[in-house]
Amino acid sequence: MTDRVYNFYPGPATLPLSALKKAKEELLNWNGTGMSVMEISHRSKEWDNALNEANLLLRKLMDISDDYTILWMGGGASTQFYQVPLNLGLEGRPMEYVNTGRWSTKAIAEAVRFGEVRTVASSEDDDFKYIPKDVSFSDGAAFAHITGNNTIYGTEWHEWPDTDGDVPLVSDMSSNLMDRVTDVKKFGAIYAGAQKNLGPAGVTLLIVREDLLGRVPDDTPSMQKWITYHKKNSMFNTPPVFNIYMCKLSMEHLDEIGGVKAQEKKNRKKAELLYDVIDSSDGFYEGWARKEDRSLMNVSFRLPSEELEQKCVEEGAKRGLIGLKGHRSVGGMRASIYNAMSIEGVETLTKFLTEFKEKHE
Ligand SMILES: *Cc1c(COP(=O)(O)O)cnc(C)c1O
Repeated sequence: MTDRVYNFYPGPATLPLSALKKAKEELLNWNGTGMSVMEISHRSKEWDNALNEANLLLRKLMDISDDYTILWMGGGASTQFYQVPLNLGLEGRPMEYVNTGRWSTKAIAEAVRFGEVRTVASSEDDDFKYIPKDVSFSDGAAFAHITGNNTIYGTEWHEWPDTDGDVPLVSDMSSNLMDRVTDVKKFGAIYAGAQKNLGPAGVTLLIVREDLLGRVPDDTPSMQKWITYHKKNSMFNTPPVFNIYMCKLSMEHLDEIGGVKAQEKKNRKKAELLYDVIDSSDGFYEGWARKEDRSLMNVSFRLPSEELEQKCVEEGAKRGLIGLKGHRSVGGMRASIYNAMSIEGVETLTKFLTEFKEKHE
């Protein structure tokens, strides 16, 4: 496929080619039904099987035990910013957050509508270049919330914080779901908008410990209650069928290459290649994140001037390296190297960056 570019967009983002090809092949006649998966009833046996297979595959890939439920929803991660406090909040108990950037800030802004919020740690004092260390949450907190990977700044939690006793840890994993082996048992809930590391925009994945589903007040509107989705296997109403199907195809690809463990190895290799170019550039490229907190998924960096940054983005695009412009709040450049980005793509990028530096330093 020579007309495919290397896509470094932060999200929506690159998907496995095999998943896209399979979707194309099956578009008009899915699974021998003579219909597209977009056309078949979500109450059909065929769809029911597909959804259950997707759930089983996710359980296998992430080693999710039976005390957790898997829910597919609409609304994006931004909807979870208020559904988390709505579903996990407890009368008279603070909700505790770590602020590691723009998405954490947005999550906090929604949570304050539901009760007392405490920001127990923040890296705002240094422009979100790091992940706070030795974070501790109170025993009495309703839940503790972190953002697993900070898509804009390129920082990532490499060691999960501990919570005491029965305080569930909740993580927004929109941009690092399955980027490495993760112990799901550490968490009460994990949520992710699909469009970064899993599938297309329009579906949100929630993995939540079942015993937490009973906290939500009864009079909450049905569609805002996680338990509604749980009771109906994510089909209380019509789920985003095609989007879930695409997530399934991308998980099948992940399974075929050896699962999350093999993916992690690949991701570490890709990140190392790119950070090496930055670190050996004598300061021409300057990474945004502190080294110990660098993300495996998003690599944010600056060049000596904004003119050079713009030029680098433009010249990269001419070589088929797309989506390298940094987020406006950080500036510079950002390469998002999600699971579906190949090592070859990153090698092409590092070769280009090395040449660009030689030409302009
Ligand atoms: C992109 C992103 C979001 C927002 O996701 P939506 O699905 O657009 O609401 C939230 N959190 C993180 C970490 C993200 O990267």
